[in-house]
Formats: sequence, structure tokens, C-alpha cells
Amino acid sequence: MSIIAANLQAVEATIHAACALAGRSKSEVLLLAVSKTFPAEAVVEAIAAGQRAFGENYLQEALDKMEAVARLQPDVPVDWHFIGPIQSNKTRPIAASFQWVHTVERLKIAQRLSEQRPPELAPLDICLQVNISGEATKSGAHAAELPELARQVMALPNLRLRGLMAIPEASTDPAQQRAAFARLRALFESLRLGGLPLDTLSMGMSGDLPAAVLEGATIVRVGSAIFGARHYE
Ligand SMILES: *Cc1c(COP(=O)(O)O)cnc(C)c1O
Repeated sequence: MSIIAANLQAVEATIHAACALAGRSKSEVLLLAVSKTFPAEAVVEAIAAGQRAFGENYLQEALDKMEAVARLQPDVPVDWHFIGPIQSNKTRPIAASFQWVHTVERLKIAQRLSEQRPPELAPLDICLQVNISGEATKSGAHAAELPELARQVMALPNLRLRGLMAIPEASTDPAQQRAAFARLRALFESLRLGGLPLDTLSMGMSGDLPAAVLEGATIVRVGSAIFGARHYE
């Protein structure tokens, strides 16, 4: 078995154990394999091991990789999720090439994604990125502006608002990890109580995966635990 296949198995087992502890079904949690900085060959290895959903942060790298993966593995459909910061001049290729975007934090970006989503494609699945760690992190909409933003994004025709995403301040303390994820879940539940049909909580990475699953994650975004340590140029 390849290292990537073995790592995928180990991550799936971690998800399974956390689901069992939380009384949840494993089928409620999608494993998104975050392949940023890793080559198309690594994605192909993961596909061979059964993985079908991949997350990317950098647009040009992602587009090149998608093309290479489609060439190497033309018969296997995979879903690509954009999970990086979005510049407004990059929305068109994102709208055309991804199935999901997890990092929408303002209306203008959502409007552009909706306008630029090619009409022959299904609506683009969207998560709103929320800042749940206050000053420590800069990305994400603030809790107070979330209900209004969610309603505005819901109204856009070519997007489908699915839920919320967050990257909490890094912590190795499981209690602190859970507290941050619980804040995101509380915001999610309050939007649902307000009538929004949301079904997705995108939270949890290699270092805080069990805590996220225990707090209700439906998508976990895992990179280094699958592909190994990243080396940036
Ligand atoms: C890189 C990245 C991940 C994966 O992080 P790991 O710690 O390698 O699992 C998840 N989510 C986002 C938004 C990322 O940028």
C-alpha cells in the first residue's frame, strides 16, 4: 500500500472513532483531502485509494493540477473545493472550475461567483467563512454580520449556500479546540433556527480533527496527515 493510501486509512479511522464517540454516523462526515503544494501524482494516488474530494488554496496551482489529474485519470470524476483566500479578480475561473467554495466572507465576492458561474453547471456550493477567533485571525465574516450576509447569499441564483467554515486559532489543547468549533456550530444552529436550510459545517484539519467531529463537523479538511509535511518555495 502507498503511504498516501495508508494515511487515508488512518485518517478515516480517526474520523470513525470520533463519530463513534459522538454517536454520529461516519457517513455524515466528508473527508476533503487538501492537496495544496502536492503534485498531481499525489492526487492520483489518493484517487486510486478511493478518495474523491480535494481541496486547493492557490488558484493557478489548482487549475494546473486539475488539468494534469484529468489527463492522468480521465475516467474518475472528482470534486474540487476552493478553500483559499479569494481575490475579486480571480472569481471567474473559480466559478468555472470548482464544485465548492468554502471561503466566501463578503457579499461582493458571492455576487461575482454567482454572475460568473457558467449556466450549464449546477449551482456552486458555498460556505461562508466565519472569524471565530477574534483578533487572532483576520479572515472571515464576523458573527454579527453573518445573518444578513447569509440571507443575501441565499438570494443569489447560481449559488447554493450550504453552511459555515472556520479556521480557528491553532491550539493543541482539545478543550480549546472544541470550544472554538462549538462557537461555529452555535452560529450554524442559530441560522438554521432562523429558517436557512444549511447542512454543512466545514471545520477540522490534521491537528484538530477529532475535536471538530465531536462538535458536528460535516466536512473535515485534511492535508498534512494525508500527504505529509508541506514545503513552501
Ligand atoms: C492547508 C489547509 C488545510 C489543511 O491543513 P492541514 O493542517 O495540513 O491538515 C485545511 N483548511 C485550509 C483552509 C487550509 O488552508
